[in-house]
Amino acid sequence: MSAPVVHGWCPGALRPMMSGDGLVVRVRAPLGRLAQAQAAGLADLAAAHGNGLIDVSARSNIQIRGVSPEAHPALIDGLTALGLIDEDVAAETRRNLVIQPFWADRDATQCVAVSLTEALAREDAPDLPGKFGFAVDCGSSPLLRSISADIRIEAASDGLVVRADGADTGRLVATAQEAAAAAMELARWFLDTGGAPAGRGRMARHLAGGASLPDRFRHAPAAASGAAPPTPGASLTGQLVALEFGQITAPTLAALAGLAPIRITPWRALLLEGVTTAPDLPGLIHDATDPRLRIDVCTGAPGCPQALSPTRDLARALAPHLPEGQRLHISGCAKGCAHPGPAALTLTATATDRFDLIRDGRADALPEATGLAPDQIKKAL
Ligand code: SF4
Repeated sequence: MSAPVVHGWCPGALRPMMSGDGLVVRVRAPLGRLAQAQAAGLADLAAAHGNGLIDVSARSNIQIRGVSPEAHPALIDGLTALGLIDEDVAAETRRNLVIQPFWADRDATQCVAVSLTEALAREDAPDLPGKFGFAVDCGSSPLLRSISADIRIEAASDGLVVRADGADTGRLVATAQEAAAAAMELARWFLDTGGAPAGRGRMARHLAGGASLPDRFRHAPAAASGAAPPTPGASLTGQLVALEFGQITAPTLAALAGLAPIRITPWRALLLEGVTTAPDLPGLIHDATDPRLRIDVCTGAPGCPQALSPTRDLARALAPHLPEGQRLHISGCAKGCAHPGPAALTLTATATDRFDLIRDGRADALPEATGLAPDQIKKAL
């Protein structure tokens, strides 16, 4: 078995990545929100220029799958007309924000997200590595602590705290503009102190490697531990609907677009603004106890060229057999994209419909059992 390929950069819309089913075109909706016309247009474009499948990533991005290189220019024209494309690849790469989706008009989260988006679009914005990102999480209790980010902006009782990921303290500021400026300062410090040799690196690793933060980022303690990620259901902002294994079809997205503006969340779910009744559409999960919500599964074959087996059909087949409360990670290869950390149970493909079973480990950890067929896996669960 060959080692998984590590690309070290993330696909965007202008710089898509080739996958097993064509180009993956990643769209970063401004402020993590699609107006109804944008959502409807995006669904049409995914059906016309892709294979009609759309992923929602753990960083609140939308990925149109199955795009041929010939269709890419027309897709970009369509996305540009919808206001979903940045000026260039550098601007697209820098605008790597995850925004807590339950924001209200003109609250701290929305204001910081707007200020930070503007700061990252300026010509003098730091040239950050592709995976370097910001979490804007200024509600009463942090919701994005489990989401990967390098600089976090959270609420405190007396202002906003801008903090390097991996640090217990940050810098207290009063306004959204000050928060954006402090975040840019921290990003520049990261680059200036060698956080991204050869253009790659993450903040927490930089601090763990001994980098010492500037004094002004050491005084404000981080807010208490964050809240658990929300489950599907009604909220003050609207209905939260989960997507089966983080994927939605173009017709289902088009139907949702007819209901309300859509906020993209980092929990493989969509938030339908102002909607009070869960829409009954294929591929949507409304029941918080649905076992599919406890399965992390990657694209697998044939969508990923590195995959040694399909994964999603197995996830569907195993869901009813998953013991209550247990989480399962199914990975098409040892790279473990869908869940990079350890999981209670992990199945790593080694050949078509053959998987190693790993307990309390990552996808590349030593297996407890090897070469299991789906029926044997059901028994093992
Ligand atoms: S973990 Fe899954 S998505 Fe990632 S490279 Fe392997 S097969 Fe592809």
